[in-house]
Amino acid sequence: MENDWSKYRDKIVGLGEHSLRKSYYPELQEKIDKLEASQKNLQTIINSISDAIIIHDSSGCILSLNEHAKKLYNIGDNEIKQYTIHDITSPNQEGGDLSATWNNVLNNTPQVFEWLTLQINTNKELPVQVSINHTIWDGKPAIVAVVRDFTERKIFEQELILAKEKAEEANKLKTEFLHNLSHEVRTPMNGIIGFAEMLEDPDLSNEMRINYSKIVQNSSFQLLKIIDDILEISSLETKQIKVKKEEFCINSLLMALFSQYSVKSQERDIPIYIKKGLPQHQSKIISDKSKLAKILSNLLENAIKYTNEGFIEMGYRVENQTVVLYVKDTGIGISPENSDKIFERFSQEEKDMSRKYGGLGLGLSIAKENAKLLGGDIEIISEKGRGSVFYVSIPYEPSGNRVHDVSKSLWNKDEETQNKRYKILIAEDEEVNYLYIEALLEGNSKFNLIHAKNGKEAVDICMNDNSIDLVLMDIKMPVMNGHEATKRIKSKYPDLPVIAQTAYSTKLDKELALKHGCDDFLSKPLKKEVLLKLINAYLVTE
Ligand code: ADP
Repeated sequence: MENDWSKYRDKIVGLGEHSLRKSYYPELQEKIDKLEASQKNLQTIINSISDAIIIHDSSGCILSLNEHAKKLYNIGDNEIKQYTIHDITSPNQEGGDLSATWNNVLNNTPQVFEWLTLQINTNKELPVQVSINHTIWDGKPAIVAVVRDFTERKIFEQELILAKEKAEEANKLKTEFLHNLSHEVRTPMNGIIGFAEMLEDPDLSNEMRINYSKIVQNSSFQLLKIIDDILEISSLETKQIKVKKEEFCINSLLMALFSQYSVKSQERDIPIYIKKGLPQHQSKIISDKSKLAKILSNLLENAIKYTNEGFIEMGYRVENQTVVLYVKDTGIGISPENSDKIFERFSQEEKDMSRKYGGLGLGLSIAKENAKLLGGDIEIISEKGRGSVFYVSIPYEPSGNRVHDVSKSLWNKDEETQNKRYKILIAEDEEVNYLYIEALLEGNSKFNLIHAKNGKEAVDICMNDNSIDLVLMDIKMPVMNGHEATKRIKSKYPDLPVIAQTAYSTKLDKELALKHGCDDFLSKPLKKEVLLKLINAYLVTE
């Protein structure tokens, strides 16, 4: 920072040689030396200050900058006078004209304010705090601005605001959770107390006694689940939960879950369908079975709870060394803006929801944290009013060091094998019945099974795929029955064998089926030998 002191010094120095001056004006020279030394000191101090110091006139023209200011604004030593305060003010700064403030300052009123400045050349915005005061520069009134970089402080402030908002939100959620908890505990407790009392009635019929005792049992299970969830959340919080890897078969796990939830889903008239991504013998993996079961249970429970009509489908596929399991429903759905929020603890899409559907808002956060423990994650694709699909991805670790070429996608079998196999379309609306047929044919690698959930789906599949070799057609199905479906399929493929399979096996049923184009007829429950024999007869597989 140079001022015009040098000019006066030069005038005095102009009197002659240093030694000459010294002998004639020893006192003056001493003063000059002292002044020079103190100016240097002052300059050193000003340049070592970690704030930027700018001196400018009342129109904003920059007169001088300390070293820190030059660095902050990217201004070179020779460029100082080219710039004004306006050049280093961000266009995003509201009320960017400081003329009125400067006038006040020149009238002896210092000011402190926050400002958005701009770095020359890079145009980088810098939030700063500015303290301005009046001064005299080269004998004229000027303004000295001390500028402190606030970038880090602003980031810190922002973090603090976010943390505060989060803490407030968590607090709000916890309060809501306690209200919910009281409601969720009271409901089954009332059931238990009320019906346990009624069980004491000596005149109660046996049938009613069984009903009441069922209610007591169900309410107790509901309470247990609440306690389990709360305990699990606190164990997850304290990181006490360990992963226990073991070998297990995904297909069997899906089947176990299917049988666990099928009664509940039947009660609500919402069928559950299973889509297995790998044949039984290839579906063994290494992971934590009970955690995966817990994750899928939570998703299935929600799917049943939040679906009023339609169906639920659970399945998986293997891709890029990852097992992607999914639970799909045709329920109430979630709007995209809430699809992250619902994975947070205690959070529910709508507050009224807990009253209507019950629940504490813990299931998904438990599921997500467990998925993360398995090295995976959960994602959701959903549409309000149309349904949701929850995807659980976990690392694919096949058991027994068997290496599968997953890059070829095991979802579809490789072409060579597929060519040798017979495609059998099974039209069956009851998932249990389909799973039964699948189990009967499972051991036979010659069959590639496709599932249609009603007659219309069976027709659509056949219309789009002319490589189907045989159809096993249930007769009583929703949307389109087996008779109509067979008629339509036969009109396009008269030679495609269609075998009717139905629980109604009177002579008339048989005749009706044959009349609608079926080639043969099987009565349920199907017997393995009979089924294989008939399929063999049509496909000549041996
Ligand atoms: P809870 O079901 O006990 O409320 P969850 O953590 O399991 O808690 O789910 C959180 C919220 O996510 C639910 O309250 C609901 O709003 C939403 N949700 C979860 N699963 C579904 C689903 N299958 N369909 C629609 N909404 C869902």
